Amino acid sequence: MTTLRLLLGDQLNPLHPWLERVESDVVWVMMEVASETQKHLLHAQKVLGVFAAMRDFARNLRTQGHQVHYIRIGSPHNRHNFVDNLAALAKHHQASAVQWQEIDDHDLQAQLRAWAQGSGLAWEEADSGHFLSARDELARVMGARKQWTMEHWYRHMRKRHRVLLDDKGNPLGGQWNFDADNRKPWRGQPAAPPDWRHHHDHRALWQDIQQAGIDTFGQSQAADFRWPLNRDEALHDLQAFVQHALPYFGEHQDAMANGQPRLFHSLLSFALNLKMLHPREVIDAAVQAFNSGQAPLSAVEGFVRQILGWREYVRGIYWAHMPGYRDRNALQHHARLPRWFWTGDTRMACLREAIGQSLDNAHAHHIHRLMVIGNFALLAGLQVQAVHGWYLGVYVDALEWVELPNTLGMSQCADGGLVATKPYAASAAYIHRMSDHCKGCAYDHKQRVGDTACPFNSLYWDFFDRHGEHYASNHRLGMVYKNLKRFSEQELMAIRERAAFLKANLDGL
Ligand code: FAD
Ligand code: SF4
Repeated sequence: MTTLRLLLGDQLNPLHPWLERVESDVVWVMMEVASETQKHLLHAQKVLGVFAAMRDFARNLRTQGHQVHYIRIGSPHNRHNFVDNLAALAKHHQASAVQWQEIDDHDLQAQLRAWAQGSGLAWEEADSGHFLSARDELARVMGARKQWTMEHWYRHMRKRHRVLLDDKGNPLGGQWNFDADNRKPWRGQPAAPPDWRHHHDHRALWQDIQQAGIDTFGQSQAADFRWPLNRDEALHDLQAFVQHALPYFGEHQDAMANGQPRLFHSLLSFALNLKMLHPREVIDAAVQAFNSGQAPLSAVEGFVRQILGWREYVRGIYWAHMPGYRDRNALQHHARLPRWFWTGDTRMACLREAIGQSLDNAHAHHIHRLMVIGNFALLAGLQVQAVHGWYLGVYVDALEWVELPNTLGMSQCADGGLVATKPYAASAAYIHRMSDHCKGCAYDHKQRVGDTACPFNSLYWDFFDRHGEHYASNHRLGMVYKNLKRFSEQELMAIRERAAFLKANLDGL
């Protein structure tokens, strides 16, 4: 009897134990379904990148002798959702069992389990072997704590996996965190590393996607596609990152610059999230660079923290708090997203750059996501679930388990302070300090009010003024509320009026 093994687009790990041998009674099932492209409007590169990598993976499986049933987006037999396709394939192959690796998406997991239970087939979920913590480990480590601080989790993970520790279990360099050394802007030195992007021609696949009527946004870049297709290419990216960018990753990880979408970031999130790379091998490559003197501890620790700390942490948040987490809106933010979120056509230079990069590359680095786009959305009070939908759609690496806690929790504070112990909110002073975006902007970063005053300034003070009940007693925000009190009633009125005007005219900014 045949066993169907479903393989999803984010499970492209050729080293999974399932692939160690060819089994004649196993049919691997892969499918490009419209239902996955319709939950949110997706960036063209996201659809192209995932489908291209899936097709390449299926080709390799066949070459190794595995039986593969691959349903293309344009196939007349495609029922365009997982369960209907699976039911039809079970009949077609006279299958007695269906298996899959643990599914990282909450709703899809529930959907597949519900279908399998009623299908009459034997069914089984296997470990994907990808993550460095169990789904419920964060919740267990945090226990009854009110705030689930990342730093607490990160130290647990460093100890558990013995990363950057001395023989006695203490952190190398005497400290757990080198954040204080890692907040430098970038003024052109050291030179930005070469772009080690790929150059794939995905025009035929793009045509398939368009003919199937899949709606997307952003630049497809189908003729010269940058994202990796498989593990070999992803390994090449990892090596290039370690060689060219890791040494400076730490110092400049919060820096932003016009025309520099990568700076010293790795651009590994797409390959990691599709499981072409294992997080442990990425961490080991960085630690090895430190051990061989290729990169300083502050850079390597900063990078390791993102993967061993943040990435596993947001996954733990997701599984501990779904499905209700997605609907939270603690600050009651309900404003419509401005139209320029889909065009980049705004006079605010920092947002034009950050959204422009997102539309061109389906990627922006962390500080553009957090301190420019997310910061603006938070201060302007944009509707949280719409912001989540935009982030989930636009980024090539956006899968709900990682995107949602970052957007709704860290960036929009919509979970009541579970992830962010204080809002990632900043006025123009921060953006000016960390980038060159303010030079040549239509707005003046120094002004709070007036027609040409930078919108971030009045929106910043208005945000803390409006949300005093949430934040005034937060000791980490003491300075903000002290400064707010220094404004005269007249100054405060002018700030509130300017903020109200901006919020009423978001499309025109
Ligand atoms: P680098 O800066 O080189 O970091 C290395 C790796 O660390 C990344 O590849 C990623 O795997 C991991 N990492 C870094 N920061 C985080 C984080 N906060 N959470 C989880 N992993 C992290 N990351 C996603 O992978 N998918 C998303 O959908 C996503 N949405 C985000 C939304 C918002 C509002 C914010 C603020 C951040 C989001 N991030 C997301 C986290 C982070 O911005 C991206 O992982 C990073 O920009 C990817 O680029 P990179 O590979 O060059 O990362
Ligand atoms: Fe952004 Fe304001 Fe600076 Fe313009 S002045 S780039 S809007 S922070």
